[in-house]
Formats: sequence, structure tokens, C-alpha cells
Amino acid sequence: MNAYIERVIETVKQKHGSEPEFVQTVEEVLSSLSPVVDAHPEYEAVDLLGRMVEPERMFTFRVVWTDDAGKTHTNIGYRCQFNGALGPYKGGLRFQPNVYPGIVKFLGFEQIFKNSLTGLPIGGGKGGADFDPSGKSDAEIMRFCQSFMTALYRYIGPDVDVPAGDMGVGGREIGFLYGQYRRLKGTFENGVLTGKGLSYGGSLARPEATGFGAVYYLLEVLKHEGEDIKGKTIVAAGFGNVTWGICKKAMQLGAKVITLSGPDGYIYDPDGVCTEEKVEYLLEMRSSGRNQVKDYADKFGVKFFPGEKPWGVKGDIVMPSAMQNDVNMEQAKRIVETGAKYYIEVANMPTTNDALKFLMDQKNLIVAPSKAVNAGGVGVSAMEMSQNSERLSWTEEEVDSQLQRMMETIHRVSAEAAEKYGLGYNLVAGANIAGFLKVAEAMLEQGIF
Ligand code: GLU
Repeated sequence: MNAYIERVIETVKQKHGSEPEFVQTVEEVLSSLSPVVDAHPEYEAVDLLGRMVEPERMFTFRVVWTDDAGKTHTNIGYRCQFNGALGPYKGGLRFQPNVYPGIVKFLGFEQIFKNSLTGLPIGGGKGGADFDPSGKSDAEIMRFCQSFMTALYRYIGPDVDVPAGDMGVGGREIGFLYGQYRRLKGTFENGVLTGKGLSYGGSLARPEATGFGAVYYLLEVLKHEGEDIKGKTIVAAGFGNVTWGICKKAMQLGAKVITLSGPDGYIYDPDGVCTEEKVEYLLEMRSSGRNQVKDYADKFGVKFFPGEKPWGVKGDIVMPSAMQNDVNMEQAKRIVETGAKYYIEVANMPTTNDALKFLMDQKNLIVAPSKAVNAGGVGVSAMEMSQNSERLSWTEEEVDSQLQRMMETIHRVSAEAAEKYGLGYNLVAGANIAGFLKVAEAMLEQGIF
């Protein structure tokens, strides 16, 4: 590996040993940039990589709220403005009890390259809180969101930093967050958040965008291999917004998702999550706040495997679409044994680094990285920002066709970047390289800081 890259990774390991997810993503991204950094010795003199792994700034703040019984709770909120070279910081907010700086920074770092791949003018950021939304009433969620925004509002804005949803933050939360922003600022700047409701500036097709985009990307991979999506089976994970979008688009195209997972285990539906009723039911499962996939098994009479993950179920395509580090080495081996031909990451960093390397080394398996596959979500967020500044709404067809074109371009520029650096059809390295090069160029041209 390039010696400068090795030194940067070593420094990050030393400084951020207590943030393993962040170290993991830095290692994954930088190690695939070796041929690029070899070709650009000028990066080291301006410490381009050392600057890239350090957020421009990061806030933590106290979020105090009162529950329905009148008891006061104190949480920690975060916003990491990682890299603004390409545009306003852009990235979601995650509300989950395990949120801490290592998670916020890993997501923020991934976001820089993902957002660059969209080709749209957005920098990378991320935020959230160690708050557990499950089992909370609407009123509690509202008070939490209002308190969160009261702490954050002066540091964001349509041209500054534009948060959106992530795990635990959906349309309901974005509504409460926007209402509080508007109340505090006294302006109708709806471009400050994306994932909004349609009545106050949301974009058509934003809820579907990440899942649809992932399937559009998959279509490009299949096209490259001369295969058709019709009749294919998909082993997926999660049952939230992203997996819902995958099920819906797969159904439209004649493929079927046969597994879903949750914190409680996974379900296997050999007929596929591919009727309107089943796909709609995922929305109900999510809004119930129960956060369990067993509900699907109870409702549709399919098998539920408590405490297990779906890795090892036989299917043509594997799409880890739930959360980070969902597939480790042992599970990766099981996936290979099933003979699946495509491993399409969807969730952010769903694979541990050793497992990812193992999967990429398999001759008969094509691996695609999440920062490319799930970029349709933030891509349509950037389209939402455009619509807000134009003060008009695009039709669903316009958004969807732009999304399709974007996913096709992301696949093509990734494949071309890997090819250019002698790596063959390596979509993982290609996405890192293509995403990186644009940010590098913008940083170099903007001077040293
Ligand atoms: N949280 C999503 C992501 O991981 C969406 C971010 C956004 O729309 O800004 O990319």
C-alpha cells in the first residue's frame, strides 16, 4: 500500500482507537486509493488525506425533554460537518441509543464520497442523538425534536448544512424539526431539511428513493453481466424505509425479496414480499413503533427465526439493507456457500472490512458498495433542495427518471475509475476513487485549510 496512506491510517488508529466504526471506514476507503495516491505525490505536501479524515467541525449538544409522565430526560445530540468542499454539508440524522461520535463520524465520512458520487453540489455531514424513539408517544417525539432543533438551528441553513432522516428519523420527525426551525428563525426556509412532507416542500418519490435507487443500480450490474432481473430472488435485511423501497421496485420488475430482518430475528417468505398488501404492511410495522419483524410472520403465516440473521438463505442476490456491520466473516462465508452471484450492499457499511475483502476475493461473486448503491436517497434529497430553491415541484416521473439516470451514471463512473487504475470491474474501489477525486480536486483548488 502507498506509504502516505499507511501513515494516515496509522494516525487515525492512534487518535481514534475509541471510535472503531470510524477507523474501519477510513481504512476501507483510503486503502482502495493506493493507485491514485501513487499517481499524485503532490497530495502529501498539502496533507490532503490527513485533512480529509478530520471533520471541518463537529458539535455535541444537550437535548433535554420531558416524557408524558412529566419526567425529564437528558440526551446527547451531534452534528458533524465533515467536508464542505462540494457544497452545503448534507446528510441524515440518526436517533438510536447506540449513537456516539464514532458512529456519527463513520457515517459522515462515508457521506462525503457518496454525495460526491451523486454528481450534485453537496458536501458531507451527519448527525443524530443517543435517543431511542421506539415506544415513545407522538408528543414525546415532538418535544424531543423541538429540543434537538432548538440546540441546532443556528448552525444549519439551506446554504450551510441540510440535515435529513436516517434510522429513527422519518417524515414525522422531519416535520417536527422543521416546524421548530421555522418558529425559531421566523423564516420559511424549507431547504434547510430534506425528507419533508409534500405539503411544505417535500419531493415526490423521496421516501422510495433509496430503495428504488438501489434496485436501479442493481439493474446496471445485471446489465453488465447480461442478466435479467425478472424471476430473481433477493435476500434482504431490515424492514424499514429502504427495504420497503427495494421490495416495491423489485415487485414492479418481477423479482422478489424473500427475507426481512429486525432486531428480533428474520422471516423467510418463499413467495416473496411482493404483493401490494405485504409491501404496505411494512409501513404499518414501522409506524407501530414495535420494531419487530415477527409481526410479518404472524400476519402472513411465514416462518420466523428468532435471534438469527438471514445470511445463509439461498437467493440470487444478497442485499444487506439493515445496518452497519450486519455481515461478519462467518456470515460472509455462509453467503458464499449459498452460491449467490451478487452481493449488493445497501445499508451504510453493512460488512466488516475482513468480510468485505473475503467477498471481493470470490471469483464468482460481484460486490457493490453501499456508498454507491444507496446514494439515490441523498441524490433525491439534493433534488428536493433544488425544487425548494426554485419554489416549484417536479413531477414523480421527473424525479424518478433523474434518479434512474443518476444511478446509471454512478455505476458507470465507478466502473470506469476502477478500469482506469487497472483494477478491472471493481465497483468498491471504483466508487471510492471516483468519489474521492472530485472532493480532492475541489479541496486542492480552494487552498489549504
Ligand atoms: N441518511 C441518508 C443517507 O445515508 C440520507 C441523507 C440525506 O438525504 O441527506 O444517505
